[in-house]
Amino acid sequence: MRKALLAHVKRVVIKIGSGVISNDAGLEDDQVTSISTDICRLLDRGMEVILVSSGAISAGKGQLGIIGKPQTIPQKQAAAAIGQTQIILKYKETFQAQKYNVAQVLLTRDDLSNRRRYLNARNTVMTLLEYGVTPIVNENDTVVVDEIRFGDNDNLSALVTNLVEADMLIILSDVDGFYNQDPLENPQAELIPVVERITSAIEAMGGNSHGSLGTGGMNTKLKAAKRAGLSGVGTLIVNGRSANILSRVFAGEEVGTYFLPAQSKLTAKKHWIAFSKKPRGKLIIDEGGQTAVIKRGKSLLPAGICGVDGGFERGDAVRLCTRDGEEFARGVISYSLAEVLQIMGKQCAEIEKILGYKYRDEVVCRDNLVLTVEDEEEVD
Ligand code: GLU
Repeated sequence: MRKALLAHVKRVVIKIGSGVISNDAGLEDDQVTSISTDICRLLDRGMEVILVSSGAISAGKGQLGIIGKPQTIPQKQAAAAIGQTQIILKYKETFQAQKYNVAQVLLTRDDLSNRRRYLNARNTVMTLLEYGVTPIVNENDTVVVDEIRFGDNDNLSALVTNLVEADMLIILSDVDGFYNQDPLENPQAELIPVVERITSAIEAMGGNSHGSLGTGGMNTKLKAAKRAGLSGVGTLIVNGRSANILSRVFAGEEVGTYFLPAQSKLTAKKHWIAFSKKPRGKLIIDEGGQTAVIKRGKSLLPAGICGVDGGFERGDAVRLCTRDGEEFARGVISYSLAEVLQIMGKQCAEIEKILGYKYRDEVVCRDNLVLTVEDEEEVD
C-alpha cells in the first residue's frame, strides 16, 4: 500500500527538525552524516531532493555559552548565524564524499510573499535541481523580525513544497509519527499510520506538544501537512533518528504517519495567494456578496462590498470578511483602497463613470480568489 502511494514520487521536500540533527550540546555530526548518506541513496535512484533543514540555532547556541533555548531574539539570531555555517559545512562534506553537491538557500517570508521574488526563488531552486545540486533551505534567521517570519520550518517546508511543485513532503521528526495522544505524556498513545483528512478531531489529538529544541510541535506539522495536502501532495512524518529511514520509506516499509493529499487541490497560484502572500487589508462583504462568492463560485463585484479596513494597493492580497470580521476568503485585489472607497456598493456599470476609467468589473476576480472556510478547501 505504501509502496503504491510513493511509486510516483520523483521530487521530494525533506524537512529535518532541530531535534533530529542536534541536541543540547549542539550539532550531532553523526546524525547529519547518516541522514545525508540516506538522502544520497535517494539521489542515486534519480530522485530530486530539496532539504529544509532546521538546527541552526541549536547548533550555534553552545558557542555563545547558552544552555537551553536562547531567550532573546538577538541571541537566537546570533546563534543561527554561527550554527548555519556549521550545518551547511557538515552537509557539504558528507554529500561531496558521495560525489554530490549542495547549495544554501535562505528565505524570509517576504521573499515568498512577493510574486516576483517567489518566482525568482523558484527559478533558482529549479536551476539547482537541473544541475543535480541539492538545495538546503532554511529561514534567514539572522535578519527576520516577526512580521517577515515563516514562524517555523514545518510551515516553510509546506510552502517550499508548493514552490517547487514537489510530489511529496517528508518531515523527519524526533518522534515516530502522529499519535492519538501525546506519547511523551501517555505511554498508551497509539501511532496512526494513515490520516485521510485533517479534521478538527485530528487537530485536537495534536495538542500543543512542543519539542525541546525546534520551534514547532505536532500542531505545526499538522498545519504543514494540510497545506501540502492542498498542493495535492501527501505528507509523511517519520522518525529521523531511525537508521536509514528514508531508504526504508521508499522500500515500502509502513513506518510513520502518512497524510493523504486533499481531494480538491489548489492550483500553485491559489496556494500562493492563500498561504505565501501576506494579506494587507480587509474587505467587509454583505450577505449577497458572500453568497455569490461562497455558494456560487463567483468573483467579487463592487456591489458586495460594504466596508474596508486597512490600506492596500492594486495587486495586494486582501481578506474577504463577514460583517463580524470573520475571514472566509482571500484574493488579489484589482483596485486600490482609494478606488474601492469610491466604487463599493455600486453597480459595475457605474465604475467608469465614478473613476473615469475601469480596469475590470471584478474587484477580486475568481481566478485570484481562494476560499478559506470549509477547512481551507475550495468548494468550487
Ligand atoms: N530556523 C530555525 C533554525 O534553523 C528553526 C526553526 C524551527 O525549528 O522550525 O534553528
